[in-house]
Amino acid sequence: MKKLISILSITAMSLSLMSFSVSAQQSTNSNPNLQEQNTMSVLWFQTSGEAKALFHQGYNIGKMRLDEIIKKKPKNNSKKIAVVLDLDETVLDNSPYQAWSVVTGKAYGSSSWTEWVNKAEAKALPGAIDFLSYANSKGVDIYYISNRKEKEEEPATIKNLQRIGAPQADPEHVLLIKEEDKGKKDEKVKDKRRQQVARTHRIALFFGDNLTDFSGFDNLSVAERNQAVNKRKDEFGKKLIVFPNPMYGNWEDALYGYKKNLTDAQKAKIRKRSLQPFSP
Ligand SMILES: [Mg+2]
Repeated sequence: MKKLISILSITAMSLSLMSFSVSAQQSTNSNPNLQEQNTMSVLWFQTSGEAKALFHQGYNIGKMRLDEIIKKKPKNNSKKIAVVLDLDETVLDNSPYQAWSVVTGKAYGSSSWTEWVNKAEAKALPGAIDFLSYANSKGVDIYYISNRKEKEEEPATIKNLQRIGAPQADPEHVLLIKEEDKGKKDEKVKDKRRQQVARTHRIALFFGDNLTDFSGFDNLSVAERNQAVNKRKDEFGKKLIVFPNPMYGNWEDALYGYKKNLTDAQKAKIRKRSLQPFSP
């Protein structure tokens, strides 16, 4: 009898443990920690040699292409040669902000982001300063086109660029989002600023970690982005230099269909649903 009671109580205990673990799982599913999911991406970006090698690879290709373009420059073309670079995750390494988001569980927010920007502490990504100094020594004009905000973030951005030794870091060459363009439908589309540079310059190369750092890739669906890359494959490594960013970007917004007000639970669901597993 004693034995039976103890078997029954063990069974009851394990049943209650099972139901506890099921409910714990359910609460995780309904309240997912999306920031936690970025752990591996941030670790890869911050610690892997592969990430650093890819930045060197991109900037080395940029240097080779720049040499070729300078050599071929037609004498009757009066336009100066320029290169256009994005800033975040292209020249400046903001992974400490992403790591902060993972460890605190706090999502990106414009006030915490501006707080990070205003520290002006971002380090240069590998190869960036070598490339920029080389371009500068060849008399090439450098334009930094970024979606940082001019009013709140320009002084710290320029200070940060000067601190890491980036040449031509001044208001004329650092083109951010203007106050009057804030809130406009296409405020983040960089075409207007690219065209502004192209009026006076021949843009030899574009550098970015996001396809939208190049013209023709804005507001595309996941499938359209992939098709566009395939269609324009010959431009990569020739005119367009892409760097890896697994931490954030328009690739993620495209997954959500650019919907702004999704809950974390909805985003988590879309993330899972977008995986392409094999069927055993
Ligand atoms: Mg960027």
